[in-house]
Amino acid sequence: PTTNLDALLSDLNGLDLITEPNQVAKLSQDYYHFSPVLTPQLKDKVGDVVIRPANEAEVLRVAQACVNYKIPLTVRGAGTGNYGQCIPLAGGVILDMTRMSAVKWMKPGLACVEPGAKLAAIDKQTRDIGWEIRMAPSTYRTATIGGFVGGGSGGIGSVTYGQLRDRGNLLAVRVVTMEDQPRAIELRGDDVYKVAHAYGTNGIITELEIPLAPAYPWTEIIVSFSDFMSAAQFGQTLSDADGMIKKLVCICPDPIPKYFAALKSYLPEGTHCAFLMISETCLEPLNEFVKDFKGTIVYQKSAQDASRGAAIAEYSWNHTTLHARSVDPTITYLQTLFPDDKNLQLLEHMYHHFGDEVMMHLEFLRYGGTARPASLQLVRYSTEERLNEIIKYHESKGAYIFNPHTYLIEDGGMKMVDTAQLQFKQKVDPYGLLNPGKMRAWLEKDGK
Ligand code: FAD
Repeated sequence: PTTNLDALLSDLNGLDLITEPNQVAKLSQDYYHFSPVLTPQLKDKVGDVVIRPANEAEVLRVAQACVNYKIPLTVRGAGTGNYGQCIPLAGGVILDMTRMSAVKWMKPGLACVEPGAKLAAIDKQTRDIGWEIRMAPSTYRTATIGGFVGGGSGGIGSVTYGQLRDRGNLLAVRVVTMEDQPRAIELRGDDVYKVAHAYGTNGIITELEIPLAPAYPWTEIIVSFSDFMSAAQFGQTLSDADGMIKKLVCICPDPIPKYFAALKSYLPEGTHCAFLMISETCLEPLNEFVKDFKGTIVYQKSAQDASRGAAIAEYSWNHTTLHARSVDPTITYLQTLFPDDKNLQLLEHMYHHFGDEVMMHLEFLRYGGTARPASLQLVRYSTEERLNEIIKYHESKGAYIFNPHTYLIEDGGMKMVDTAQLQFKQKVDPYGLLNPGKMRAWLEKDGK
């Protein structure tokens, strides 16, 4: 049991606290169960108490109490992360940010929001002035902006705007520190990356300034192809097409469309499908691309009907995995960036090499100024050894894997220590209380 918990709770009397064990257990979880490797490591981890601050002053109060009693604090948005990012490894306080959900101000191209604002809720307000979030995960309806910046990377919109890590996609953050005397500081410019994708180990984000994109009338379209490489080449060509306004270019080859029950009547058996979000104004030129690659438009929903029926964005990115797992829970996934090769040779090789064991699923994104295929392949899981073999094979051939089967920040994507993040943590969290156990550099510094 966490020592001094009662003292902490009495200091925080008056705040919105949850101590009922079932609720606390529920709010200690995320979507780590997509990984059969993480499941046994994380399934029993729980916090001691959930605290739901209403404003920054309350966050400062909680931070002070945690520092006083040396109790760990793990920040939580909506808990939709896939790598156990918000799972408390050492108990303590779970700081649920969902009550801090205001859009504080907005103007053309820019908004200032609280971290607990859901991405879809932000769009709902900014669209009134003709703007929207530049990119969002497929969990857009439930995920928070603080959680996306703290633990996410990119998604719908990334085909045009790149990823969160690209300069210009996050302008400023306010963070509460866990020093002897916690304070709120503002980070701008490259300093934002001290806390972005740091899994809440480097401060509690209480406010963010985010750039916006023009909100086009997005049409949702599915195009089917009779062979995989035509679908993939169509995706690459469309993603590279400068005149085409696009938000999503996702390729789900056969047999993946079989997992999409609600769309079944539209998706011809045995075909390879492209899921697209395109500005309505680009429909005519889209037809030319479809013709070039001998595709067939099998589904179309106008921007006006966007809120009705299935949203195709919720079949893309890691929702593809979600639907497949709802049919076959033994399926897991990988995250891969393929090289900048317009002929897609390595991708074609992997498609044939692994066959049905590693089902290709492509998400095109802009990376370093050019469109590249990323893949969230669906893997028919057998053993951890085999999974690692699959990863090693990809890496040996020049595909970059962002491993989703680890909860350590460095081991997932960067593969190396981020010195700026480590130094910042030494300053703002000297007792290592923020989400302990997630930053390898910090663990190794302590010789653990
Ligand atoms: P949480 O899971 O609650 O938290 C994520 C991390 O951020 C945690 O480490 C937490 O401690 C930290 N954090 C939360 N709030 C704060 C704060 N205020 N200050 C500091 N740190 C904070 N991700 C993508 O990037 N792209 C995708 O397309 C995508 N698709 C997904 C599809 C499915 C079906 C699922 C289950 C997940 C997907 N994800 C995707 C992962 C996840 O949904 C997103 O990253 C999402 O943005 C996380 O938001 P959240 O509010 O749920 O964050």
